[in-house]
Amino acid sequence: MEKGSMDKSNGLRVILFPLPLQGCINPMIQLAKILHSRGFSITVIHTRFNAPKASNHPLFTFLQIEDGLSETETRTHDVTLLLTLLNRGSESPFRDCLTKLLQSADSETGEEKQRICCLIDDSGWILTQPIAQSLNLPRLVLTNYNVSFFRNHFVLPQLRREMYRHLQDSEKDDLVQEFLPLRKKDVLQIIDKETEVLDSYLDMMLETTKASSGLILMSCEELDQDSLSQAREDFQVPIFTIGPSHCYFPGSSSSLFTVDETCIPWLDKQEDKSVIYVSFGSIVTISESEFMEIAWGLRNCDQPFLWVVRVGSAVHGTEWMDAIPKKFIDWLHEKGKIVNWAPQQDVLKHRAVGGFLTHNGWNSTVESVFEGVPMICLPFVWDQLLNARFVSDVWMVGLHLEGRIQRNVIEEAIRRLFSETEGKAIRERMEILKENVGRSVKPKGSAYRSLQHLIDYITSF
Ligand code: UDP
Repeated sequence: MEKGSMDKSNGLRVILFPLPLQGCINPMIQLAKILHSRGFSITVIHTRFNAPKASNHPLFTFLQIEDGLSETETRTHDVTLLLTLLNRGSESPFRDCLTKLLQSADSETGEEKQRICCLIDDSGWILTQPIAQSLNLPRLVLTNYNVSFFRNHFVLPQLRREMYRHLQDSEKDDLVQEFLPLRKKDVLQIIDKETEVLDSYLDMMLETTKASSGLILMSCEELDQDSLSQAREDFQVPIFTIGPSHCYFPGSSSSLFTVDETCIPWLDKQEDKSVIYVSFGSIVTISESEFMEIAWGLRNCDQPFLWVVRVGSAVHGTEWMDAIPKKFIDWLHEKGKIVNWAPQQDVLKHRAVGGFLTHNGWNSTVESVFEGVPMICLPFVWDQLLNARFVSDVWMVGLHLEGRIQRNVIEEAIRRLFSETEGKAIRERMEILKENVGRSVKPKGSAYRSLQHLIDYITSF
């Protein structure tokens, strides 16, 4: 990023409205930092649920709106339900807030006057497009999916209904031609039940994206060139692939959890590329038996480990964790470290980390590629299944557990990833991918140029 441009205002204000999930807040705040460094003033409208920490970003204006969620609803693990409720509960408060912002910008005079040039919000907000349109405000959609998943996932309910009702065991590993490189069993895992709510939600998302003024993706040509050309035809709106956004302003200042910084001095004591980092992001929960299988797999392998277990939310019914004998936890700690939440980007960058056992959320996947850390893929839901296929089958920079959460399978995968034969080949491919993606965000790189086009485009509104 250009230094020295931080304080220069270009007289334009951008309104951002992140979806209140960790994986969506991070890229939106990164985008806010990028735009601010290019002279834009930033207003972030956010829900009460999972409100970002305004004090971490004193240069932005934060406005909180009501979201209508009850205390019980904030604890649901059903993301579709959560998004539906949020869209319903936030509609009217969002409309009021945006209307007031536009009115007060209109009434400003003199040197302080700023023009609100656009709204940028998450593809998961299906309420915003009609509101922005009625107020004559251009809306850009930010999606935190890989390009291929975003363009194809609208057909998932149909795929499931038409093709997989009577799927034979022998067909489960077959590729899905309409959604490469997914396999048929992945589709079943992505949508494991009929849900009308999801179908209509996806229809609305498609419609509102096509009606928008453009689409921003945290990806780059080097990761998925083919899907990008197809997406341009599908949506017929300008598409900007600005790369792994965290590379411009490293650090996780938008974390909703308290970060345990003791990871870093612990990593400092480990040998180069020896540690397996384990994290399943901010939403995935595992069962008690899965926790125990992972714990045994990590304890039995030859590598030290750093494992993120979100207290109170990573494991179903977390009371049982208190019942784990202290001796077992101490025994685990002889080989590794367990933390509630890690400074992930710093961890992946650390010289001691040699592998990442991940759920393959898009942020985690891209962060790992950017730092050149090979992965072991354990996807649980939704786009994670496709991201994992890209890692293991397309880029070939990781191994896939195929859903087997068993101690011997995990131990074996870690051995293979760190081995001098198979592991070495994976590390070499990862090094090449890392270089290509790294080049893309440097001046003249594809993502860097796309970011410049985005800035010019916003300025032109
Ligand atoms: N993250 C983090 N510390 C952790 C685990 C995750 O800072 O201990 C960050 C990670 O760097 C990423 C985000 O949380 O930016 C998780 O996003 P992702 O898309 O990978 O998964 P999600 O949480 O949406 O499932």
